[in-house]
Amino acid sequence: LEEKGESPHFDTTFEDARPSLTHMALLGLQRAGYLKYLISQNVDGLHVRSGFPRDTLSELHGNMFVEECEKCGRQYVREKVIGVMGLKPTGRYCDVVRSRGLRACRGKLISTILDWEDALPDRDLNKADDASRSNPVETSRSSPISVMRHAAPTHSQCFI
Ligand SMILES: [Zn+2]
Repeated sequence: LEEKGESPHFDTTFEDARPSLTHMALLGLQRAGYLKYLISQNVDGLHVRSGFPRDTLSELHGNMFVEECEKCGRQYVREKVIGVMGLKPTGRYCDVVRSRGLRACRGKLISTILDWEDALPDRDLNKADDASRSNPVETSRSSPISVMRHAAPTHSQCFI
């Protein structure tokens, strides 16, 4: 396009984007029991939207549709893009009711999208590390976690 003097044309919003055949194939492999864990650096939320179980998925660079309580860690998956990056407050508060039911957590909700200086999220990183150690055979882009920490957010890693 650049050689032709043209610019890329985007006519799909992140809300309108739908999981691709590849996303659905990964979901199929997971449901069939072949894919044990998926590590993604994508922030588009399409793995979650495909129905991929969040307990077998690490989103190392965050998810544009997820905000998290900085107090209790509860995550909220929204229909619309959060609109805030860099783990910054979204302006909303956690409504998890505490165990005694007396009052809600009321912790600040923050974006899960990392900025350049932000460290990878401990919870997702630890789960990814555990999965990569307990599943010796891997497919897709096979790069060790230490390399993935600095790679561009454009691919996912699967453990079978
Ligand atoms: Zn909370």
